[in-house]
Amino acid sequence: MPRLLEMSPVQLQSWCQDQGLARYRAGQVRRWVFGRRAAGFAEMTDLPRALRNRLEQTLVLFTTEVLAHRRADDGTEKLLLELADGARTECVLLRDERHHRTACVSTQVGCGMGCAFCASGLDGLVRNLSAGEIVEQLLRIARLLDRSERLSHVVVMGMGEPLANLENLFSALKTATAPDGLGIGARRVTISTVGLPKGIRRLAEQHAPYHLAVSLHAPDDRLRGELVPAGRGVPIASILAAADSYFAKTGRRVTYEYVLLGGLNDAPTQARALQHLLRGRPAMVNVIPFNPVPGLPFRTPASDDTARFVELLRQGGLNAQVRSRKGEGIDAACGQLRRRHLRAPAGLDG
Ligand code: SF4
Repeated sequence: MPRLLEMSPVQLQSWCQDQGLARYRAGQVRRWVFGRRAAGFAEMTDLPRALRNRLEQTLVLFTTEVLAHRRADDGTEKLLLELADGARTECVLLRDERHHRTACVSTQVGCGMGCAFCASGLDGLVRNLSAGEIVEQLLRIARLLDRSERLSHVVVMGMGEPLANLENLFSALKTATAPDGLGIGARRVTISTVGLPKGIRRLAEQHAPYHLAVSLHAPDDRLRGELVPAGRGVPIASILAAADSYFAKTGRRVTYEYVLLGGLNDAPTQARALQHLLRGRPAMVNVIPFNPVPGLPFRTPASDDTARFVELLRQGGLNAQVRSRKGEGIDAACGQLRRRHLRAPAGLDG
């Protein structure tokens, strides 16, 4: 059966026409799905009952099943979803004191980038998620909110490398930002990449002011090659050049992510080298103390070392901040919940 979330508004209209339905039904259905967060055609009570029944028999709305739902004390919630083919993916709802309600979504099942400190990369890439599967994560997260709350931001920072699944990402973001979709402003969408220069340039060609976050994690090519194996042969200089051109085209300041690993990339000399690399760029540096992942040999840096690292960046004139970890205790770091459930049978958590 055709899947509604894979269809553009025009495709849904033509599908309605092919079914002998009025074209305006497409808009009605989309308003229910994106505006009123309906999870099924049965909820669309202003459609005639016969039409609701018919839609249920001819069109698929949600294709995933929630295998696990976890909540942390800080309001973070995480879903483990099973896709139609049995593959599993994750998405997270982040709440903050500014009333931002952010969905963090995945773009792939697993990941082929193999970052040494990441749970998602441990089992390699299984497959790309379709545009509809990405949109469905947003809808599943939106349905966790109270009626009075709205999804305000999207971060594409879950499992997978978004720029390795560009077409599906673009299509999903069109739905996320469309006024008759989820209506989230493009400036409130952050795309986090390991740093694929070609992908960054293609993203810039979209002429949408998405916020770009580039994962550096090391101030030199040798260490970066160890931490981000997919980045071997891609010099940091070429990533920075692509990011500079992204800023030139979109006017959006680029954020650089740096996972701080105790005793590995947190030395003062490394802070100075990073500061030297980024000096003069309109950049923000997010320093993220490593979140322990079972089975990985890295450690969380001492809080003094983290503070000193950030201070050295600031002394060099960079905007730098420690990014707080959310969702402690619910495997909120990308890929952790899925991995746990690859090893243990799935079940619903409190
Ligand atoms: S950090 Fe991101 S790019 Fe690296 S392996 Fe994990 S999901 Fe993939």
